[in-house]
Amino acid sequence: MSRFLSNRHKDLSAYVPGEQPRGLEYIKLNTNESPYPPSPGVIASVTEDELAKLRLYPDPDGSVLIQKIAVRYNVKPDNIIIGNGSDELLAFSFLAFCDKRRRVVFPDITYGFYPVYAELFGLAYEQIPLNDDFSVDPADYVNCGRNVVLANPNAPTGIALPLGDIEEITRSNPDHVVIIDEAYVDFGAQSAIGLLPRYENLLVIHTYSKSRSMAGARLSYAIGSERIVEDLNTMKYSFNPYNVNRLTQVMGAAAIEDEAYYAARRSEIAKTRGYTAGRLKELGFTMTDSKANFIFAAYPRLGGHDLYAALKEKGILVRHFEKPRISDYIRITIGTKEQMDALISAITEICGKVAGNHANR
Ligand code: PMP
Repeated sequence: MSRFLSNRHKDLSAYVPGEQPRGLEYIKLNTNESPYPPSPGVIASVTEDELAKLRLYPDPDGSVLIQKIAVRYNVKPDNIIIGNGSDELLAFSFLAFCDKRRRVVFPDITYGFYPVYAELFGLAYEQIPLNDDFSVDPADYVNCGRNVVLANPNAPTGIALPLGDIEEITRSNPDHVVIIDEAYVDFGAQSAIGLLPRYENLLVIHTYSKSRSMAGARLSYAIGSERIVEDLNTMKYSFNPYNVNRLTQVMGAAAIEDEAYYAARRSEIAKTRGYTAGRLKELGFTMTDSKANFIFAAYPRLGGHDLYAALKEKGILVRHFEKPRISDYIRITIGTKEQMDALISAITEICGKVAGNHANR
């Protein structure tokens, strides 16, 4: 910390992203990226002509891309804002709708950026404990009279909340915004987008980082009522009107045209998730019922950190969170079947050693 840092930020602990090793020496299962490349249409969309146009600023409104998203979800362009990853749209949402009086609530175990934004912006927030099985108790949020942020499926547990519960939470808090972060929804949960026409206070955020294989491009969109989107645009135009670069807008529009490609990759990932979960259970792991592109699992004989470290030594990166309640767990991104087989054999060796140590005692 420099002596110049303002007092406001002296106690801030920044979000710590998963490791991004240089080179590709690791099997990288730690930040929930897709193991598959973007669709052929996305790759073909980066033409020389588009590259030459980089001398120009991008369209601040993202009109072409927003039009495509609007058709895809049967909403109006005025219901959509695009962002530089969902992190940015989450930041705009926290900034727009929360302050010291208008509190925001979210679970104690969820995406780690929520409390960081709340701290950075000096907002009042509450973290509501998940049930012991890591499920959300909807009753904690129904009629709570606060802004609500829920990742659905949740991270890092992968557990999805049924749409009926989200509707009840939204319906019962008409004077507050309910933000549903659907970063992982495409891998097996129900989207709340269908509820939007009925609720002015609902905002749904999607990202291209996971199911559309474009984490490196930084692209997301939020869909909500015209009023809410207008407020988010006020934040965006007060911060960075050119938040999504030209090439990313072009690639994002091309991705919408390639739905069949992405649907096939998503179902492949869901299949590999089922396969991996089965193999891990055979080895004695316990896990949550994940509907996301990751598995959240624990091995009773080895702590989460030791498992993470042993896998890293074998060239496989997974994510471990040194946090109360979940420090026994590791979060494993679903890669290709081959990558998961490599993970299973590494884990089999690690578990074999642990079992051997126990037997020798
Ligand atoms: N929400 C959740 C629940 C996430 O896990 C992530 C990924 N770290 C994000 C949002 C942010 O994703 P991005 O900014 O890449 O869209």
